[in-house]
Amino acid sequence: MSIPTVMGFHYTLKDAQGTEIDSSAGGHPLYVMLGKGHIVKGLDDVLPDMGVGDKKTIVVSPENGYGPVNDELRLRVPRGQFPPDADLQVGMQFQTEPKPGAPVFTIMKIEAEDVFIDGNHQLAGVELHFDIEVMEKRPANQEELAHGHAHGPGAHDH
Ligand SMILES: [Zn+2]
Repeated sequence: MSIPTVMGFHYTLKDAQGTEIDSSAGGHPLYVMLGKGHIVKGLDDVLPDMGVGDKKTIVVSPENGYGPVNDELRLRVPRGQFPPDADLQVGMQFQTEPKPGAPVFTIMKIEAEDVFIDGNHQLAGVELHFDIEVMEKRPANQEELAHGHAHGPGAHDH
């Protein structure tokens, strides 16, 4: 059994129009155990070929990112199906089932008797442009292997 690789890297994520979505700049690099599906497939496929100091822009299609938009997850729900005392607001998020991994729905629009919700990931259908700079690359240590995920530098409390 081979020991998984842990990589620490800085990233800036933009969409196809160049609008920044997220970035590690100014903070700690992101530490990831590669090949475990902890990051989108499009990154997990390419990062193992990069080394410390390498910089690269990786373009990830929705299929290898957060998936295509699924219209079946865009629903119109009667207001009456929500608890009467719920203070519904656009942008509010909730799960329909109380189990891990259940889709998270976001309220997109509220009309008189209808609430429009969307269970797609916010980045579904988005082509992801990652500017990557690799800071560290090493085999996973014993503690990381035991936990099944990477640990960055600094305190660790789980
Ligand atoms: Zn841990």
